[in-house]
Amino acid sequence: MKKDYYEILGVSKTATQDEIKSAFRKLAKKYHPDVSKEENAAEKFKECQEAYAVLSDENKRRQYDQYGHAAFQNNGSSGYDFSGFDFSDIFSDLFGSSFGFNFGGHTNSSRGKSRGRDRIIRVDLSFEEAAFGTKKNINVDTYEECDSCHGKGGFDEDICSNCHGTGTVTTEQRTLLGSFMTKTTCPKCSGKGRTYKRSCSKCSGTGKIRVNKDVEVKIPAGVDNGNQQRIAGYGEYGSAGNGDLYLEYRVREHELFERDGTDIYLEVPLTVTEAVLGCKKEIPTLSGNVKLTIESGSNTGDKLRLKGKGIEDVHSYRKGDMYVVLNVIMPDKLSRDQKKLFEELDKTDLETKAFKKFNDYLRKN
Ligand SMILES: [Zn+2]
Ligand SMILES: [Zn+2]
Repeated sequence: MKKDYYEILGVSKTATQDEIKSAFRKLAKKYHPDVSKEENAAEKFKECQEAYAVLSDENKRRQYDQYGHAAFQNNGSSGYDFSGFDFSDIFSDLFGSSFGFNFGGHTNSSRGKSRGRDRIIRVDLSFEEAAFGTKKNINVDTYEECDSCHGKGGFDEDICSNCHGTGTVTTEQRTLLGSFMTKTTCPKCSGKGRTYKRSCSKCSGTGKIRVNKDVEVKIPAGVDNGNQQRIAGYGEYGSAGNGDLYLEYRVREHELFERDGTDIYLEVPLTVTEAVLGCKKEIPTLSGNVKLTIESGSNTGDKLRLKGKGIEDVHSYRKGDMYVVLNVIMPDKLSRDQKKLFEELDKTDLETKAFKKFNDYLRKN
């Protein structure tokens, strides 16, 4: 007695397509033979696939509701033959793309239809390009459908005599444990189910041609090291659609600014007198030079915040801040006059509160 498809997926007869899909996803995760530790996982997985292939298709579901399993019984096979059903969207996001596409024979490849693989290209950006965004022409090698044969790979189509158009062949494997029937992609037509009397010379029968293209990409402001941007459709060729291209950014260092997320840091050198007397100091920012007020008595390590002078967040567009870190540099060469002035200064008392602890200890001993 064959089990009811609704029962297999654990959904009601009035379940929506979303409910059916989500139920199948859960079960597929549980029983996928490559990951499952459940007993009879392969069998249960097949059962779920069959049920899903029928119930996810409104037409087939109606037939099943009306006639039950009898709706799909032909050629003496019991149940619906789901070998041509494309599960790739479900498997690819369940297990990651490499997983989904390798599920041989039963899924997307059975009709020679599969989505191309994604690709990554690393792109170097200057500090400013990453901060402000830019446009770049990215040169990519991509595959497009052959315009001569429209992706078929040949002319004068015929149904494949080896698999009778199904794209899969069943072979019997005898082992010590018994014999197993395994379905694999038809080697004669590579799963297309069709053969061609004349092969297409432009694409050597592959149905795809390699093209080299410049793609203009708008890179948003605020991208950072390791960020990826998806360019849909520029991955590897697939008969069910190209994969996607991912641009992964590497941002070069700036000669002065340092970046921490959306904040930037700038170390500003000060002379002794600038630090002691205070000054208006011209400094660079990402939006041009500005005059910054340095208080008298500033020290090395003092940090000043310039609100909103950082880098825009790539998602929220909120701007980070800029931090100016002061660094008081001692003069390494003094003129005679300068030396004299320092000697005059030395006669005065320059000690502040900060010296007290040190001097107290000194006197105690
Ligand atoms: Zn062609
Ligand atoms: Zn074939």
